[in-house]
Amino acid sequence: MQVYKNFIGGEFVESKGSKRILNTNPADTRDILGEVILSTKEEAAAAVDAASNAFKSWKRMPAPKRGAIVAKAAQLIGERRQEIARTLTREEGKLLSEALGEIQRAINISEFCAAHGRRLNGEVIPLELADNVGYTMKEPVGVAALITPWNFPAAIPIWKMAPALVAGNTVVFKPASLTPATAELLMQCFVDAGLPAGVLNMIIGSGGEVGNTFVDHPDVRLVSFTGSTDIGLGIYKRAASRGIRAQCEMGGKNPVIICDDADLDLAVAGVYSGAFGSSGQRCTATSRVVIQHGVADAFLERLLAKVHTMKIGNPLDADTDMGPSVDASQLKTVMDYIEIGKNQGAELLVGGDKPTSAETAHGFFVNPTIFDKVRTDMRIHNEEIFGPVLSIVRVESFDEALDAANSCEFGLTSSVYTRDLSRAFRYIHEIETGITHVNSPTLGGEAQMPFGGLKNTGVGPREQGTEVFDFYTETKAVYIDYTGSKREGKLY
Ligand code: NAP
Repeated sequence: MQVYKNFIGGEFVESKGSKRILNTNPADTRDILGEVILSTKEEAAAAVDAASNAFKSWKRMPAPKRGAIVAKAAQLIGERRQEIARTLTREEGKLLSEALGEIQRAINISEFCAAHGRRLNGEVIPLELADNVGYTMKEPVGVAALITPWNFPAAIPIWKMAPALVAGNTVVFKPASLTPATAELLMQCFVDAGLPAGVLNMIIGSGGEVGNTFVDHPDVRLVSFTGSTDIGLGIYKRAASRGIRAQCEMGGKNPVIICDDADLDLAVAGVYSGAFGSSGQRCTATSRVVIQHGVADAFLERLLAKVHTMKIGNPLDADTDMGPSVDASQLKTVMDYIEIGKNQGAELLVGGDKPTSAETAHGFFVNPTIFDKVRTDMRIHNEEIFGPVLSIVRVESFDEALDAANSCEFGLTSSVYTRDLSRAFRYIHEIETGITHVNSPTLGGEAQMPFGGLKNTGVGPREQGTEVFDFYTETKAVYIDYTGSKREGKLY
């Protein structure tokens, strides 16, 4: 059986840890992909040492050359996309088509960041002093610790690694323990692209051991985390106590507002893919629909018709519409929230149980579930479920819809369906999310656009776009005096 290896100082090495867990296919637990050894704190510290030792020479390499290595890695990820996508689907459970889409996103982000190596410029700033030059430079910060979740095991590591490396930082990376196989394939692409030893290191292990060792290590100067809110806020506090920079992207509870003038065909298609794509396990998944009474019944009739035809099963099969939850614990969370929804008085329209086909007998499957007549004080409206469970909140007015959409502590993404331009603009200004859409699903994002949330979803600067380079660089202000004068009494 394959045993996943750490990558330290340019070598793949087996962990000496004593705890082992199996990497199983969530669609069929009889399919074992490999074995994970949970690494020790000492191994995590050794990875930081390797990254620290590699920093000086990596920083000296010109940014366009660093970008060229990242571009080469992107090319290799593209050439190996089928193998990476099949592995990702087997260990995480999303559809093969979704895995291929995720890999394309990773490639786009790498290419965008690689090209930014040629634009990592500061600016020349006019000074009050005559015959003096003032300008700024962008410099790397040091060792960056990247801690990532299982739900986008290719795209999220890459959207952190690519800007970190192009900016000249060295990296220690902790993938989610549930998705080590995808992480190992990505590492191999960077090795084969010619990344110097020590610049990128990976330790597979638990958050408590490896993650915290990274965050607490005196040589780590940056932490970029994506995952749940509780863990992220804990990491943010730990990083703040050391005075280092941190960026934490966390949970979501993304709403779609459907107005009484909406194109209902568009709205049904957007909510269907948003709520049930990737089994509801996207950070950008649609988990709440806030809809005006006048169109609620017609919308639900069309949505339910689509949901009733869904095929739940093996995510590697092209005709499957939805795969499993990622593991037993995530499935239990989903089932628990379904009970909470019922107990708090929401009306179950469809789902709420597990499928019974032979194909789903050995996996962590749950049927797509819709609750109607959800109130904004209910737990299923306010807490992240991370499964294919959609809440419908009926409202009278557009103002009430905005209040309901904003009444939640999370703020990653959102959408509105309306044909009224003034409503659309009011919505854009008043919705409390870091990303928003008009007449399209809550999903997705392009490499050149910033990505991140408000409220309890995000702390620290945005990821992606050009803004991410502000996180991964320090600005140095340079003054050059070519007068030869002592400027006595005139220093400022
Ligand atoms: P998680 O349990 O918070 O884990 C995320 C990462 O943190 C994993 O690598 C995990 O390691 C590690 N970790 C766990 N405990 C830690 C600790 N005490 N110290 C340091 N690291 C620790 O999240 P998840 O279940 O993997 O992912 C799902 C969550 O991610 C959802 O809440 C989702 O909304 C969020 N998410 C947010 C975004 C966004 O951009 N806002 C994007 C994607 C996902 P182990 O795997 O070993 O536990």
